[in-house]
Amino acid sequence: MNKRRADRHDWDVVVARFWAKVDRSAGSSECWPYMGQRDRDGYGIVSLFDHKMRAPRFAWIVTNGPLPDATLIVLHRCDNPPCCNPDHLSLGNHADNMRDMAAKGRGANQHGRHRHKYMSL
Ligand SMILES: [Zn+2]
Repeated sequence: MNKRRADRHDWDVVVARFWAKVDRSAGSSECWPYMGQRDRDGYGIVSLFDHKMRAPRFAWIVTNGPLPDATLIVLHRCDNPPCCNPDHLSLGNHADNMRDMAAKGRGANQHGRHRHKYMSL
């Protein structure tokens, strides 16, 4: 990335603000729920300069760098929408996501049991 120094500083501020809203107190192997704004599906929403991004996607980018392919999406191995632990995130495409949802029985039941972990926090 060829960013000017001022932009880089702004980016650092955004990243620091982001992690300040992520509850990492459970430990490095546990889920890290995003404590800021969330959308209807429970995903954290990060405000970036002039647009918004889902928090897990932002966490992945902050940790690993820009997505290699814009069509890729960030998937949760833990199936916990607000989770931002990079260890629980992996890249896939929409087909992967649909397979994943079918395998977990999601989609048919939007308020399924997979939310219990997040709800108990
Ligand atoms: Zn997780």
